[in-house]
Amino acid sequence: MTLVFDVRTLLFVGSLSSLACTVMLWSSRGLHLPSKVGLRWAAGSQLMFGLAMGAIALRGAIPDLLSFQIANTLGSGAAALTYEGVRRLTGARPLPWLAVGTNLALLAVNLLLGSDASQYVPRLQLNSAVHAVFAAASVPLLLGRMRRGDDALGPLRWAAGFMVLFAIGHLLRFAVTATNGALVSVDGMVEGPLQMLMPTVFALGPMVYAMILLGLVNGRLAGDLWRLATIDVLTGLRTRRSFVDEARRMLDEGGRPVLLMLDLDRFKQVNDRHGHVSGDRVLVQFARLLREHSPANSVIGRHGGEEFCLLLPQASPDEGHAHALRLCDAVRSASFGLSMPVTVSIGVASTADGGTLEALLLAADRRLYGAKAGGRDRVVAADDPLAPDTERMPEALQDAPDASPPASRPPQALRAG
Ligand code: GH3
Ligand code: MG
Ligand code: MG
Repeated sequence: MTLVFDVRTLLFVGSLSSLACTVMLWSSRGLHLPSKVGLRWAAGSQLMFGLAMGAIALRGAIPDLLSFQIANTLGSGAAALTYEGVRRLTGARPLPWLAVGTNLALLAVNLLLGSDASQYVPRLQLNSAVHAVFAAASVPLLLGRMRRGDDALGPLRWAAGFMVLFAIGHLLRFAVTATNGALVSVDGMVEGPLQMLMPTVFALGPMVYAMILLGLVNGRLAGDLWRLATIDVLTGLRTRRSFVDEARRMLDEGGRPVLLMLDLDRFKQVNDRHGHVSGDRVLVQFARLLREHSPANSVIGRHGGEEFCLLLPQASPDEGHAHALRLCDAVRSASFGLSMPVTVSIGVASTADGGTLEALLLAADRRLYGAKAGGRDRVVAADDPLAPDTERMPEALQDAPDASPPASRPPQALRAG
């Protein structure tokens, strides 16, 4: 059985799919702001590819001159736009004039070559050479971006592979056309799968590339969302959600961590006296101090505002208590560059208070308020006299007397034994 393929229809379908991809890329440009301009260039290149393939598919219906010159000029020019899109998506320095200049040069050369049948091979070779050069030039940019890290390493790898294959395909086409002349007639039906290879690549390539770009943008978007959900933008610590997820995982796996709940003292006064920017700076410095003074395997999160949680996975309740005292000391003796002292109150809980995260949080929270009620700048653990055994009473806290100036007072290790 002889396989017969209809090249014209294939290119027509390719043209329509390229135009559909133009709409897809253009309408997706708002998905991920940093990738927006790159997607615009890619959409522009899809539009040019679509029109180029449409022009070949319509050969016969429109004058040859138009068909060839539109196809060759737009098809090769699109490669320059694709390359500029890659530059934008990989963070390389923009070179828009290269794309514009290449298109103007292609227009001039194609007009010079005219539509004469004798110029068929040089036109194809010019087309292939331009494609191969721009595709090859994209590869180091994509690899460089992968080395620098990206949320969408997979799609970047696919894009690099695509460009390599595209460049090799065009180099082969260049070489084969040089020796054998035109490979495929686009006038109608051809026989044999091999003859269909290049038209199929033309028809499918833009669509495959558009899908890869969409994967890239989605990967980056997912990365941004994941960071927003899990990393506190101000302090770089875990968000409450991320902290809770990790703590729950640890408890579910049978861990027996110690939980510290920390709340900066009289922080409202820091904002009132020094302004919110200084307040933010204190929070950042406090977070750094927590990280630097805690074991590497600690899980540290910003619970909200000026309240933080710290989980020590492998500490006994006594070790957790001692660690809280060290943190209290470190904060008091650190210089925050303010005219007022910065201190912290800490509540300590362990799995002796219950096996669930809720039980730990509740116990630590109540002891934290015990520390506030006891004068602030102190640690309260399980059997401290200050550990409240009743529901917490915010009114009592508001009335709690301030202790003597924290800078001169050591943290009180109130825990008996
Ligand atoms: P206490 O010793 O009882 O904890 O008193 P406090 O002033 O620290 O507690 P309060 O809950 O009255 O005030 C907390 C303040 O923390 C109020 C809020 O404006 C401030 N705050 C919360 N989040 C931020 C932030 O991200 N940046 C800044 N600068 N301030 C914040
Ligand atoms: Mg506070
Ligand atoms: Mg608070």
